[in-house]
Amino acid sequence: MFGFIKKSLSKTADALKSVVPKKKVSFSKDELEDILLEADIEYELVEIILREIYQDKVTRDILRSKLLATLAYTSYEEPKFTPPFVELIVGVNGAGKTTTISKLAARYKSEGKKVILGAGDTFRAAAIEQLTLWAKKLDIPIIASKQGHDSSAVAYDTIDSAKSRELDNVIIDTAGRLHTQTNLANELKKIARICDKAHSGAPHRTVLIIDGTQGNSAIAQAKAFNEMIGIDGIIITKLDGTAKGGSIFSIAYALELPILYVGTGEQPENLTPFDKYEFVDGLLD
Ligand code: GDP
Repeated sequence: MFGFIKKSLSKTADALKSVVPKKKVSFSKDELEDILLEADIEYELVEIILREIYQDKVTRDILRSKLLATLAYTSYEEPKFTPPFVELIVGVNGAGKTTTISKLAARYKSEGKKVILGAGDTFRAAAIEQLTLWAKKLDIPIIASKQGHDSSAVAYDTIDSAKSRELDNVIIDTAGRLHTQTNLANELKKIARICDKAHSGAPHRTVLIIDGTQGNSAIAQAKAFNEMIGIDGIIITKLDGTAKGGSIFSIAYALELPILYVGTGEQPENLTPFDKYEFVDGLLD
């Protein structure tokens, strides 16, 4: 399983590696601009990186430190908590929330932890069905109600069940869209409040799922979610296929939030913990 994860990450790195010429020791600023743009780093960030380079010739070491600097905010420290560890998963529909929840659940399960899911996107019947299917496949419990029911009640029941069964991890899905943004903001805030009521200090982590192929529009959505509820970390999905790893830099730099994992496929094992050193070194190897 983990061999495959490793392969997926190097595939992400490969996308960028293919545009950083392997044997070249240094680049002119023009060459570097082309390389970074080709790697899918947003134009604004490329300009910022170039503006802070004062040498005519840019060595691989300089490039490495510049790329690492754009990822300055990516380290995450788990807060102190009393089990179960409660996570709220937020993001727009289609970003990969349901798939990522199943990936997280599979990961925790493989670490020997007992997991429960809460189908908190009660706005979409399909989301409840899909998550229930994943729970069955992974053989883990799920609390789900009917479409239109109160999502914070689902969150409460999920945590309550986790506490009485002495489970380790609670992962709660949330709606990605409601009739208006204000409705969505109010719903997310209410869920967070109810989590705290069910288990003081919860949610311990609010994770935003971002589609890595969406560029600037994903960044704008992410900022909106951060204002609505406050995000502790992000997971960037769909970094397999045609997406180039460069979007990771743009997203991390714009949001100043830790990147927890990257999604590199549709299967539960396609979730890779993000390590900025490993990532950048992989690109420059
Ligand atoms: P949600 O609406 O946010 O819950 O999104 P879903 O989890 O249903 O995902 C939307 C689509 O993206 C589905 O077809 C998933 O299989 C696909 N998807 C999610 N994550 C990834 C990923 O990392 N890579 C690829 N290639 N597809 C993904």
